[in-house]
Amino acid sequence: MRILLLLFCICFSAYGQGQQQPAIYNIIDSVSAERIKKDIKILADFGTRHTLSDTVSETRGIGAARRWIKKEFEMISEDCNGCLDVFNQKNFVKKGDNDRIVKDVWVVNVVAIQRGTKYPNRFIIMSGDIDSRVSDPNNYTSDSPGANDNASGMAGTIEAARVLSKYKFESSIIYVGLSGEEQGLYGGKGLADYAKAQQWEIIGILNNDMIGNIKGVDGVIDNRTFRIFSEPVPPTETERERRMRRFYGGEVDGISRQLARYVHKTVKSYMPEMNPMMVYRLDRFGRGGHHRPFNDVGFAGVRIMEAHENYTQQHQDIRIENGIAYGDTYEHVNFEYAKKLTAVNAINLASLAAAPPAPKTVSIGGIVEASVKLKWNSVEGAKGYTIYWRDTTSPTWDHSKYVENTTEFTLEGIVIDNFYFGVASVGANGFESVVTFPNDVMR
Ligand SMILES: [Zn+2]
Repeated sequence: MRILLLLFCICFSAYGQGQQQPAIYNIIDSVSAERIKKDIKILADFGTRHTLSDTVSETRGIGAARRWIKKEFEMISEDCNGCLDVFNQKNFVKKGDNDRIVKDVWVVNVVAIQRGTKYPNRFIIMSGDIDSRVSDPNNYTSDSPGANDNASGMAGTIEAARVLSKYKFESSIIYVGLSGEEQGLYGGKGLADYAKAQQWEIIGILNNDMIGNIKGVDGVIDNRTFRIFSEPVPPTETERERRMRRFYGGEVDGISRQLARYVHKTVKSYMPEMNPMMVYRLDRFGRGGHHRPFNDVGFAGVRIMEAHENYTQQHQDIRIENGIAYGDTYEHVNFEYAKKLTAVNAINLASLAAAPPAPKTVSIGGIVEASVKLKWNSVEGAKGYTIYWRDTTSPTWDHSKYVENTTEFTLEGIVIDNFYFGVASVGANGFESVVTFPNDVMR
């Protein structure tokens, strides 16, 4: 095992900026649809994982489910010489906190941290949800297998831990099962507040909620497309930042959007068979997910999910009505697709955890000039930087220039008005940070 680890470490350090990284292909190949299938079955078989359900039984209810998840993380940790810190992070919620908290409850998240070798206090997070529900959100006793919503995201998160725990990364990775999602995003809020209190530096959260359905309610069958939801700008922005945007741009360039672009780019580079679809909104129309509480406190976060939902299999009592089998049961999940979306997460966690931090400050200038000047803070651990630009209407960073031994650069012959710009850090291993959009103007 030691020799294996060493080999992987060499793979992570021998490739230059812009080159394909063999370790990333190994990660994709290591994700197992069989293990994901097995874990979804186990989670669905807890009968219900409703946040308010039984916590004492060893076989039924959310207590049994979260103890099983914790044990899985602990077993993964044993296989990597204790590389994961596994613990419960919990918050007490009082009866009546909202309409869906009909009794006092401890909302318990199961957290596994793979510590970074260089930046132990810097984290990229992958989340799935532990809890499930049926038609009545407050029914905590009926069978609620929640196979796709969201045992799929939970199983994917456990599988990503299995695969990535075989590697070492500079930054920390958190694999987490969140609870209380269906009752009002309580688990995400609990962990986001905890992260703030611990002064964790959060690169972002990849929230996985429903990653296993390929047959849409609209009849479309598609095992290639998936969605990356991201809000345009953080809700925590100041009035000054809002005013600056009117004059200097950035309406579609907040930190969560940059994270979405990063995921999109990584997938396009390494998984050409997949069709990542960026959706320019926080979440689906009027609906919620566990990345939001992280966004609420100013952290970057996106939702990764299937492109085609089936509403007869979400939040439904198990029943047959007019010949339609309702319910979120195990048979409807496509495990190969869940495997693909798990790999999407794993390669992005790996890339971000292997990359140096993004520049904190990026200044831009070039009013009424035929060139654009960019200047950024020197990032410790960066070998170079990639300057990006794109048409204002393009969703992706289409043009780039890599530079070394400098923290400023002038793009000659480019008019500032017609493009958006950004800068990313690049490590000696070739891995790149998320792009930082300019946050300062040079006069
Ligand atoms: Zn749900």
